[in-house]
Amino acid sequence: MKKLPVSFEFFPPKTPEGAEKLRVVRQQLYTQSPEFCSVTYGAGGSTQQGTFGTVGEILKEGVSAASHFSCIGASEESVRAELATLKAMGVKRLVALRGDLPSGYGMGGAFHYASDLVAFIRKETGDDFHIEVAAYPEIHPQAKSAESDLQAFVAKVKAGANSAITQYFYNSDAYFRFVDDAHKLGVDVPVVPGIMPITSSTQLLRFSDACGAEIPRWIRLRLQGYGDDTASIKAFGLDVVADLCDQLRNAGVPALHFYTMNQSATTLELLKRLA
Ligand code: FAD
Repeated sequence: MKKLPVSFEFFPPKTPEGAEKLRVVRQQLYTQSPEFCSVTYGAGGSTQQGTFGTVGEILKEGVSAASHFSCIGASEESVRAELATLKAMGVKRLVALRGDLPSGYGMGGAFHYASDLVAFIRKETGDDFHIEVAAYPEIHPQAKSAESDLQAFVAKVKAGANSAITQYFYNSDAYFRFVDDAHKLGVDVPVVPGIMPITSSTQLLRFSDACGAEIPRWIRLRLQGYGDDTASIKAFGLDVVADLCDQLRNAGVPALHFYTMNQSATTLELLKRLA
């Protein structure tokens, strides 16, 4: 079977040791010839400097890099300046996001939604960047309704996005339905499934609650049942996620995007099983 294109996502390391470890992880993952590697922005209190620094390292390593770019609270001038910096660095791909403000902050700034950012990037920089946007097969947690969330996704694509990466999911029906519905509304850009390897139980359950990704009951209960037995959690997680990837590949998805959490072992094992 034809090899599926893959991409890998990292977050900017907070310490010199973390940066060194990530350099090793990247080299291990480069063996899989990723289409690009992306670096998150602003998530978990990370700084713009951390994102751009890691993006710069990836480019120097000869690999295509995508900078995530969130706009909440930003002014047009600051976004313009950051776009100029990224362009000067040689970045050709962005993941354009609204982002989240810490609770208690209002919706200040020039941009309210990711669609505003996509339109602004296109207006300011033409076709200089390939723009990715986020998609939510299980519906964004702040959406007014499933329908309005789908419309918001379509608006981002119509504003000029070239492709999309989904929030992770373990229920592939939600993804297939989302792609079909978007297609009916005229979306013809690739919608790449975001894959979250399962390596820990508490972290995954906490994180999924926050971002609105559903952990199916049978997976949740199995994970809880393993308690502190990390070996069993990892073995089970590999089986579940490898099956999901296999199902997605057989259905003809355009690519897979891995949320690596700055680790290589599980992603490499998943790709080995898919080979
Ligand atoms: P939007 O597409 O703007 O949607 C946000 C909400 O507003 C949704 O509920 C939508 O339904 C609603 N909405 C949109 N347009 C309208 C409208 N016109 N009227 C009314 N409602 C509307 N976060 C980070 O901080 N840093 C990262 O690097 C990062 N990377 C990510 C990568 C991926 C692939 C994904 C899936 C998520 C990522 N996130 C990241 C999380 C993301 O920032 C949050 O999910 C955020 O809450 C929404 O961002 P968005 O770009 O999807 O927003």
